[in-house]
Amino acid sequence: MNESQQFASDNYSGICPEAWQAMAAANQGHAPAYGDDHWTEKASDAFRALFATECEVFFAFNGTAANSLALAALCQSYHSVICSEAAHVETDECGAPEFFSNGSKLLVAPSADGKLTPQAIRAIATNRSDIHFPKPRVVTITQPTETGLVYSVEEIRAISATCRELGLHLHMDGARFANACASLGCSPADMTWRAGVDVLCFGGTKNGMAAGEAILFFDPKLAEDFDYRCKQAGQLASKMRFLAAPWVGMLDTGAWLRNGEHGNACAKRLLRQIEGLGGVDIMFPPQANAVFVRMPEAKLATLRERGWRFYTFIGGGARFMFAWDADAQRVDQLAADIRQITAA
Ligand SMILES: *Cc1c(COP(=O)(O)O)cnc(C)c1O
Repeated sequence: MNESQQFASDNYSGICPEAWQAMAAANQGHAPAYGDDHWTEKASDAFRALFATECEVFFAFNGTAANSLALAALCQSYHSVICSEAAHVETDECGAPEFFSNGSKLLVAPSADGKLTPQAIRAIATNRSDIHFPKPRVVTITQPTETGLVYSVEEIRAISATCRELGLHLHMDGARFANACASLGCSPADMTWRAGVDVLCFGGTKNGMAAGEAILFFDPKLAEDFDYRCKQAGQLASKMRFLAAPWVGMLDTGAWLRNGEHGNACAKRLLRQIEGLGGVDIMFPPQANAVFVRMPEAKLATLRERGWRFYTFIGGGARFMFAWDADAQRVDQLAADIRQITAA
């Protein structure tokens, strides 16, 4: 049975037609296993074309693995990773970054809006330099942030300049990278390697695929032995073509960007209808595909009674997150319910 659309998360959505068709096209006959097939080659080349650089490309089943293995590749076990206190690696990966790096510690920067700043990075990285403290080695930023904000290219450049000065690598968790590109209207290259990002985890799942994240190393030296790391972690797909083919469909047709634009537009659509209402506080300016709404607890309960699902784990407000296929009429229903409940 078809349930009504919910906006609790963008991973409630299904598979977009472009990814689905590419899966079907890959499902013809046999192909070599473990990434030696032409779909994997085509997907890797499509990333190199999109990013206009000869990056090293790997595929993992999910974002937790992609982030954790990428961070592990940038660290020794005695190193540390600087992140925002809202970072998915800190709050939602069950310690996987520490586990896969054999103990590299996450150093969490306080942040009112979920973003990291050069000042916060510098404060943590220079706080201790003695042998008793894990040596800072990596900075990870989430683009867009867990709070639905987007770092400008200028902000990323400023962070990477600080990283270079302090001898830190820069990793980007791009679980919703397409939404950030759509939001800024800038090229993937400008937002990543040209701005000093060393490694990007590019999310496919929330972008409209069934599963799969790509890990892009812009400095090939950092990718040394990464294939072994993936295999050891159980992330080497035996029928790799089915992890790779959807990317070919997404990248070749431009669906990755259209899907991101659609999610962002739906967030704006909700925002337009509820901003300025008394008793409704928009917690962060919606710059990607999320809207965070603070309302009195009783009103949130009423919204739940009306059948809406949402998470409140960031700051206690309701998070609404719009996927590639978010239905505009359903967005309007949500807006109408919020308006009615706040007026009551
Ligand atoms: C969804 C998400 C991930 C990946 O999560 P998985 O469930 O492991 O695929 C990573 N980072 C952020 C910011 C996310 O929102």
